[in-house]
Amino acid sequence: MCELIQVTRSSMPKFEEYIEEIKELWESHWLTNMGIKHEQLKTALSCYLGVPNISLFTNGHLALEYVIEAFDLSGQVITSPFTFVSTTHAIVRNGLEPVFCDINPENFTIDTDRIEELITEKTTAIIPVHVYGNICNVREIARIARKYHLKVIYDAAHAFGVTLNGTGVADFGDASMFSFHATKVFNTIEGGAVAFQNDELKYLLESLGNFGITGQDTVAHIGGNAKMNEFQAAMGICNLRHVDEEIEKRKAVVERYVERLRGVKGIKLNSLQDGVESNYAYFPVFFDGFQVDRDEIHAALLKENIVARKYFYPLTNDFECYRKQFNCEDTPVAKYFADKVLTLPLYADLDLKDVDRICNIILRR
Ligand SMILES: *Cc1c(COP(=O)(O)O)cnc(C)c1O
Repeated sequence: MCELIQVTRSSMPKFEEYIEEIKELWESHWLTNMGIKHEQLKTALSCYLGVPNISLFTNGHLALEYVIEAFDLSGQVITSPFTFVSTTHAIVRNGLEPVFCDINPENFTIDTDRIEELITEKTTAIIPVHVYGNICNVREIARIARKYHLKVIYDAAHAFGVTLNGTGVADFGDASMFSFHATKVFNTIEGGAVAFQNDELKYLLESLGNFGITGQDTVAHIGGNAKMNEFQAAMGICNLRHVDEEIEKRKAVVERYVERLRGVKGIKLNSLQDGVESNYAYFPVFFDGFQVDRDEIHAALLKENIVARKYFYPLTNDFECYRKQFNCEDTPVAKYFADKVLTLPLYADLDLKDVDRICNIILRR
């Protein structure tokens, strides 16, 4: 039996590089609460992502929960169900009502032709997702937001380092959330960030993530605890040094998959968007009219010790905790792709021979 191939494998620096990075912590004994590594990573990320304002969090989900809270929204928020369940949970856990908009079949992001029909007097924001690192129709979303005075918060968990015509993805909307979870293109073990436009948001956002503390003897907000610690930040500093190489290696893997699977009847691939510099975060394949269906391919790969994942199936509006309240038939395009998708293993060190082996299993029928 061949060695287990997981859908992803975390990027890690050399052991010695990380040890060198954390040595200082044994001298300072400062392990969390905006320490030296935290500040260093923040500066490095502002520069890498090309954003003036960035706040770090202990994970991406809490980053999203806190940024939604910071905008003090009420009522309804328009979002899409073809995403990780975190996006929907962050809205609901803020006491807001998600209104599910369908996705477009070109790049699986929110269908901007359907947003306006969902807007009511209760709508206060749009929370779209840059699915697989594909950039949403940001111009159209900005137009709609301006017309109806809505906030726009992007779930950019998949889109670290992606650019559109040279502009970093964090530049769009009022704010963007990034996830630095171990499985993402760039990781801090667990971690996340919010990049945002309005300088004044900084104090509120960072205070909310630190118990609402605003001064030595003052607590102005009912906050929680979502701080990134020094060991996470040190991992980020190391990984950021190598992220461009990692993305280049991912690109080679993706190119091999495309070479083998492009043009096969019944297989639809995610196409790169014009003007977008991708980070090659995921390799989704849609089995539509192929000899066998998605679940059979999933099982055939598993039999050979290869783990592919159904991102995103089920839709978030179809999970047990939401099913009674929402109907996934209301978003038929999202439902259609959720039933057909399989994301294949993809990570920087995935051997091209293994890519061939995976493609052979898919194509041997
Ligand atoms: C990973 C992810 C999140 C949550 O990020 P964590 O860092 O794991 O908390 C949110 N949304 C999407 C689309 C994700 O893929």
